[in-house]
Amino acid sequence: MKQLTIISGKGGTGKTSLTAAFASLADAVLADCDVDASDLHLILKPDIKKKEIFHGMELASVDKSRCIDCKKCYEACRFGAIDEDINIIKESCEGCGVCEYVCPTDAIKMVERDSGYSYISETRFGPMSHAMLMTAEEASGELVAVVRENAKKLAEKYEKELIIIDGPPGIGCPVISSITGVDLVLIVTEPTLSAIHDLERILEVANHFDVPAVVCINKYDINEERAADIEKYCRERNVKIVGKLPYDTVFTDAMIHEKSVVEFSDGKISEEIKGMWDVIKKELGLAE
Ligand code: SF4
Ligand code: SF4
Repeated sequence: MKQLTIISGKGGTGKTSLTAAFASLADAVLADCDVDASDLHLILKPDIKKKEIFHGMELASVDKSRCIDCKKCYEACRFGAIDEDINIIKESCEGCGVCEYVCPTDAIKMVERDSGYSYISETRFGPMSHAMLMTAEEASGELVAVVRENAKKLAEKYEKELIIIDGPPGIGCPVISSITGVDLVLIVTEPTLSAIHDLERILEVANHFDVPAVVCINKYDINEERAADIEKYCRERNVKIVGKLPYDTVFTDAMIHEKSVVEFSDGKISEEIKGMWDVIKKELGLAE
């Protein structure tokens, strides 16, 4: 089984549109690992078949009947997560367990905390694993790991040879969780001022985890000079550019119509994306 993760150094580069387009071309399991702000479901319209609660970090819980109001926990909590009346402020609690440790009366226990949901769904392009992190919850890296594990189980169950992962933006913990152990990372970039800097950071992460990376320059024609700089940068580092897509409103139009670009249009962009998909399949060893 092969795994491809599509990422970008920042949001809004067309990453999710490309993931959806590839989903409509491939016979794959889809995994939406952008658990903080997922939007793949807007195009794929998953029909949820299974929903499970996700427990992230533990949360301190006070049994007031045992509390002698010594305030040791209040003084020991470094995250300001206990107020003077010895109430736990859920949003601030990091689950470190120090308060439980210092409490002389065993009034504090660490409990499971509901942090989000993971879903198994059907889409018109195949099975999908996705999730939603609750507001102000932080365990997104762990939830990404759940999404990936569920995707693997789906691939085994339906005998799919590929998992396409829509990764989160940035380079933080959830991104690392989205790319570790995959066969290829596709970095979607745009010729903006920060593009090379973003690319550099994300390539560092990919290199660190020993994951091969290829690049797609989206909207290359909005600044051809910068696009050329990106190409030069990639050439010098032996990073393959698998596609260069011009700016086209069809991305937005397709999204408005809740369709992938290749479903929505058979124009030039769709042809370019199909060509890029052929190259990616070769990079993954899924085609001659
Ligand atoms: S578990 Fe840690 S962060 Fe949470 S209330 Fe206790 S001391 Fe504070
Ligand atoms: S340390 Fe324990 S007993 Fe003291 S205030 Fe906190 S909960 Fe109450």
